[in-house]
Amino acid sequence: MFFDPLYLIIIAPGLILSLWASHKVKSTFREFSEMKISKGLSGSEVARMLLNRSGIRDVKVEPHEGVLSDHYDPRDRVVRLSPEVYQGRSISSVGVAAHEVGHAIQDAQNYSLMGIRQNLVGPASIGSNMSFFVIFIGFLMQASAMIWMGIALFSAVVLFQLVTFPVEWNASSRAKKQLVATGIINSNEAAGVNKVLNAAALTYLAALITSILTLLYYIIRFTDR
Ligand SMILES: [Zn+2]
Repeated sequence: MFFDPLYLIIIAPGLILSLWASHKVKSTFREFSEMKISKGLSGSEVARMLLNRSGIRDVKVEPHEGVLSDHYDPRDRVVRLSPEVYQGRSISSVGVAAHEVGHAIQDAQNYSLMGIRQNLVGPASIGSNMSFFVIFIGFLMQASAMIWMGIALFSAVVLFQLVTFPVEWNASSRAKKQLVATGIINSNEAAGVNKVLNAAALTYLAALITSILTLLYYIIRFTDR
């Protein structure tokens, strides 16, 4: 139970993909951080422009500490951008800023998957904190009902990732469309934005695959006992 080779075998593809995606997102962001956009706008300026263009004036754009810590907060209605994105005038900066605005637009338009995702935040966080513990105790006590309860808890994590991926993909495709439609970036720069946002999407895909494989492991491990 403390170390199960079967776990490593099943989870390996997810683990490798996760490591690769994490490397890819950092290296792609860095690469396109060095390429300034010809219009010379910063990430925060682009975010404000795109929000205004969509008629969203009550969402603020604020700087936020950390590297790649950019996010949209639907409760406070704030687009928070990391220093490099907020001030930066690069392909990476405007790409990430536009992506976060994509989430604000999803929220303003009551995009259904985003609402579902918000409702899954709580169960998924309980699931990721508790599932292993519940399964482990269930195993020690030989209580299969408890093991299945743990597996059900972990399913909330999988469900959350399953909804997160299309929400992220949708925010990125909104970002690309808006950046091109407004003329903020040209077609060469659009190819760069594509690469940055696709690399980010890959990390969500890797997280989804890893959680599905973990669920699969739990099910295989406890149905063949
Ligand atoms: Zn996002």
